[in-house]
Amino acid sequence: MANILIIGGSDAGISAALRAREIDDTTNVTMLVADAFPNYSICGLPFYLSGEVIDWHHLAHRTLGEIQETGINVELNTRALQINPQQHTVLIQKPDNSRELLQYDRLVIGTGAEPIRPTIPGLDHRGVFLLHSMEDSFAVADFIASHKPERALIIGAGYIGLEMADALHHQRIAVTVVEQLPSALPTVDRELGNALGSYIASHGVEVKTGVRIQEIRREGDVLRITGDGGFDQRVDMVLVVVGVKPVTELATGAGIATGQRGAIVVDRSMATNFDDIYAAGDCVVTYHCLLHADTYMPLGTTAHKQGRVAGENAAGGQARYGGSLGTQVVKVFDWAVARTGLRDHEAKSAGYHPVTVEFSTWDHKAYYPGAHRLTFRVTGDKITGQLLGAQLMGHWQGAVAKRIDIFAMALYHQMSVADILEVDLSYTPPLGSPWDAVQMAADHWQKHRQDA
Ligand SMILES: Cc1cc2nc3c(=O)[nH]c(=O)nc-3n(C[C@H](O)[C@H](O)[C@H](O)COP(=O)(O)OP(=O)(O)OC[C@H]3O[C@@H](n4cnc5c(N)ncnc54)[C@H](O)[C@@H]3O)c2cc1C
Repeated sequence: MANILIIGGSDAGISAALRAREIDDTTNVTMLVADAFPNYSICGLPFYLSGEVIDWHHLAHRTLGEIQETGINVELNTRALQINPQQHTVLIQKPDNSRELLQYDRLVIGTGAEPIRPTIPGLDHRGVFLLHSMEDSFAVADFIASHKPERALIIGAGYIGLEMADALHHQRIAVTVVEQLPSALPTVDRELGNALGSYIASHGVEVKTGVRIQEIRREGDVLRITGDGGFDQRVDMVLVVVGVKPVTELATGAGIATGQRGAIVVDRSMATNFDDIYAAGDCVVTYHCLLHADTYMPLGTTAHKQGRVAGENAAGGQARYGGSLGTQVVKVFDWAVARTGLRDHEAKSAGYHPVTVEFSTWDHKAYYPGAHRLTFRVTGDKITGQLLGAQLMGHWQGAVAKRIDIFAMALYHQMSVADILEVDLSYTPPLGSPWDAVQMAADHWQKHRQDA
């Protein structure tokens, strides 16, 4: 009976554990979790903090009991301290602080990511928070409950910053979001980011772009934040959400190779440079289908898929990670913004000949009530016609997420933009058009392919 040891109990770790048991239910699977929250949806934290999810327990994808019923041995509040690949052992620290050496046949590392702490003086002041773990969210929730803040400042207008702007606004807190780059949500083109910024501002959230925060000072009960261009604001709380970095000390300590952004290098079987050690999720590099190279793509979707591959292979399988397209979507107030594949500049640096064309249309037949405008930005290769990427923004009820997924599917199958017109998509007037909005956007790209 093989002993599979898994370090980490979030998206990657649990996916590996479940898959290993599915593949071979005689396998002895032990999952070490540094905290007390195995298989919780940290993606749901903004919705817990907004009050829309009333009880944090509801964020559990599975309860501890449900995980244990699958035959996985879960060790909570247990931290892996050291991996010895030669001896096939992991030194752990148990909840009572005692240490033990565990033997493994195969190891899966799913230690995830941690929030980046920018070098801004004042991050340690009371009322300043980072947000990544369940514990981080409890600290924010406790502060909101006990201090009743009236004004908050969020540093970072990425997807978590914007979800949190919506969440804190939902809690009737006046919010300012500050972003050092020129537009909100810098993962999409500036045209969409600017429109999104104006939309968010129309809800009463102040959005300041092109401002780098320099200092956070405590002045009595308030926090004073200063930044470029004379930016100066006093608020009751600050949230710092400027990205994440992989947690890899364990791996590097064991001689496991790292690459992009310091993440663990894995091949498409999720194997590291050591026999019998796999890794998955936010702590690893991710193969990108269009770049044909590794990138760093810390997303829950990716972590689940990579964890499954790692778990299957740790149990003796032959699975291969299909690769990422960077598909993502965020909902802010009533808008959803999504992207998949490459943006123009990314495609250009990868050696493609991109043309990006913007197009706007209704999500369904305008004569049926409740139609919403959708804005597409489609990127394709001018010479070959290959689809390279798409971005989409509009009312969340305009099936933004599912429409970007059509593009993702087309990208995965290396379709041309013209091919999209051939696909038999569904239609009824309340939900679409005979030529779906996705196909109209593709058609528009075809017509303007030579303009750029
Ligand atoms: C607020 C927020 C919203 C998000 N929203 C989305 C979204 O909408 N869509 C999306 O795709 N992604 C989203 N993400 C990203 C997504 O949550 C992560 O990509 C995903 O959780 C990564 O999973 P992971 O298992 O690799 O790592 P993590 O979730 O970081 O988990 C790491 C695990 O390892 C454990 N661990 C670490 N070190 C040790 C050790 N030494 N010993 C034992 N255990 C250890 C931790 O306790 C934890 O269980 C969001 C993230 C946040 C913070």
